[in-house]
Amino acid sequence: MATAAIAEASGKVVISNIGLMLSGDIQDPILDADTIVVNDGKIIAVGKYKDCDTEGARTRIDCRGTVVSPGLIDSHVHPVAGDWTPRQNQINWIDSVLHGGVTTMISAGEVHYPGRPKDIVGLKALAIASQRAFDAFRPSGVKVMGGAPVIEKGMVESDFAELAAAGVKLLGEVGLGSVKAGDEARQMVAWARKYGIQSTIHTGGPSIPGSGLIDKDVILEADADIIGHINGGHTSLPYQQVCELCERSTRGIELVHNGNERISILTARHANELKCLHRVILGTDGPAGSGVQPLGILRMIAQLASLADIPTELAFCFATGNTARMRDLDCGLIEIGRAADFVFMDRAQHTAGKDFLDSLQLGDLPGVGMVMIDGVVRCQRSRNTPPAIEVPAIQH
Ligand SMILES: [Zn+2]
Repeated sequence: MATAAIAEASGKVVISNIGLMLSGDIQDPILDADTIVVNDGKIIAVGKYKDCDTEGARTRIDCRGTVVSPGLIDSHVHPVAGDWTPRQNQINWIDSVLHGGVTTMISAGEVHYPGRPKDIVGLKALAIASQRAFDAFRPSGVKVMGGAPVIEKGMVESDFAELAAAGVKLLGEVGLGSVKAGDEARQMVAWARKYGIQSTIHTGGPSIPGSGLIDKDVILEADADIIGHINGGHTSLPYQQVCELCERSTRGIELVHNGNERISILTARHANELKCLHRVILGTDGPAGSGVQPLGILRMIAQLASLADIPTELAFCFATGNTARMRDLDCGLIEIGRAADFVFMDRAQHTAGKDFLDSLQLGDLPGVGMVMIDGVVRCQRSRNTPPAIEVPAIQH
């Protein structure tokens, strides 16, 4: 923890000399600005240095011409307790993901909890306990939106009202429990929505023994807010069904690292042709059978930029502003009033790319030089990415 919590939580932070500012906004992905001013964890100014009030800063960060993006959001994780996952029996996996530029994670269900209760009282209790625990404890500062119950047969409207009143804001992946029929899922998703609980549905073949197939007809009928891992987790629906989902639904199109990579690339291309890139969001679906991927979100951005012909600056929006808007988060965009969650990056040393954006377009990962959450520096040069050419400097 030698590099953690270098700056103080409160007070003014001036971030200057930014070489490239990625906004997270798919309509305007690159800002003509070199300075961000933060106060008490929120962005209070964005612009040219001379136009910003930079007096009285408690901490100054000289970016030395590097790139700043909103902190990355992993739209699909399966956390269990604190910074431990029983799936691969790893500890500190979230700290490792922080070093991949991720500042917010969204639970798609605490499904790996050993002995996970499947009765209705038990599943509600687990959801409420998870929501409370991750709200009270942020591993290495990472915001984990936890408490996502896996719905089971027999739940009634008052169960959703009760969950919402207790602070639960998400459903775990619909389809991982006993509710697998379209009409039944539709009813429960509608109840959840009525009480302000957002829903994600599992898409594709079974993820692990015991789960089942969810095909396009069930997904269209259920009408959950997010078409979870549309590229399968791991096994994808036939590509024709995936196209139909993009065309006939208006819901979020979630692509994950632990899915079918070919379908991920084809889907991004299709979404581009349909002019609905604003619906595309990224997740890892980790921890999972294929492991934990600390660089999973960066790897997806590089994959889509290099193989699906998505401009790098737009691919970053899939993991920032798109997710924030769809999931109603206060981070994910560089604009006044938003949380000061940032990832500072540069080209990796010895990439063939002529600049940062080009290096990802060529398929290389960037180097992370610093990650900030709520105005607090949480790590400096990443221990996991390839080394960045240049990294920001902190001046007190
Ligand atoms: Zn799934």
